[in-house]
Amino acid sequence: MPLVVKAAVAFGPNEPLQIREVTLADPGPGEVLVKLRATGLCHSDLSALEGKIAQTFPVILGHEGIGDVVAVGDGVTDFAPGDRVMPYLVPDCGECAFCKSGRTNLCVQMMVRRQSAKTPFSLDGQPIASYCGLGTFAEMTVVPVDSLVKVNPGARTDHACCIACGVTTGLGAALITAKVTPGSSVAVFGTGGVGLSVIQGAKIAGATRIIAIDTNPAKAAIALKLGATDFINPKDVENIVVEVQKLTGMGVDFAFDCVGHPGLARQALESTNPAWGLSVCVGVIPAGQELSAAPFNLMTGRKWTGSLMGGAKRVDVARYVDMYVDGTYGLDDLVSHHLTLDEVNKGFEMMRSGEAVRSVVVYVAD
Ligand SMILES: [Zn+2]
Ligand SMILES: [Zn+2]
Repeated sequence: MPLVVKAAVAFGPNEPLQIREVTLADPGPGEVLVKLRATGLCHSDLSALEGKIAQTFPVILGHEGIGDVVAVGDGVTDFAPGDRVMPYLVPDCGECAFCKSGRTNLCVQMMVRRQSAKTPFSLDGQPIASYCGLGTFAEMTVVPVDSLVKVNPGARTDHACCIACGVTTGLGAALITAKVTPGSSVAVFGTGGVGLSVIQGAKIAGATRIIAIDTNPAKAAIALKLGATDFINPKDVENIVVEVQKLTGMGVDFAFDCVGHPGLARQALESTNPAWGLSVCVGVIPAGQELSAAPFNLMTGRKWTGSLMGGAKRVDVARYVDMYVDGTYGLDDLVSHHLTLDEVNKGFEMMRSGEAVRSVVVYVAD
């Protein structure tokens, strides 16, 4: 029997989300019905709402969810009702060339499902897209089994939901993509939610100098609390690259652009050690923009790379939840606001204004 569930529906770009009772289809073969407990608001939800990334409307946004399995479709053996789970943006289909090479973090189904017309949601008989096949701005959702991660039920769900995207992107950029080394130096450009998780990842990896860089002085306290050793506001200095060089002698071992801005990505590259520095583009640079650098910056041996979802696979997401539960890192300072689903528009307003570090919609309190 299809269910009727409450959801926040985006009917068009830049329109406020509307709370509606929508129809949710039963889980089909290889699919799982999940009752969500909490979902984070992520910047890419806002980018989709603002039409900055391709998106069909109407759509149920949301992709940072955590919840419990209610029912499974035919052929599902890895999950059972009651399992604590997290839908994850990057499936591993096991069939594509990336999955077969072990690089399941790039599974082609990620983009296929982003653009797929297949959706479990409808309203008055009309389909409503499910963002990235996850659609977590609804009390319940149906997701393919290979987009689901079984996670530690000991995690506080109103905080752990952020591990489904933002936290994993930041931790993974430091731990998986860059492989930050003990005793190393790190510069993090941009201390939004993802940048703060990069700082936490660098600290976990044992970096001893972590330089946080942000034009918002209000970010200094939290960056320093989470592991940064220095905070620089680029507005207070003549040249941020020179300042980083001054603090580290020859430049940092690892740099991260967490904003997604070509100019910052270039500064991050130039801030690294000329011989072995590694600079990572973490923030999504809008389509149509290009990166540039003086070629000599690379000739000396610097490396420049990017990190999509922190390079994390489903198994890494489960590991990061375990690390949260065992206290390797905390999330109390990252989640600044709790909302009901009816308040989801307020969450986007706070994201636009920078008022919220991260806000979370809570469906079921722990
Ligand atoms: Zn996200
Ligand atoms: Zn695949």
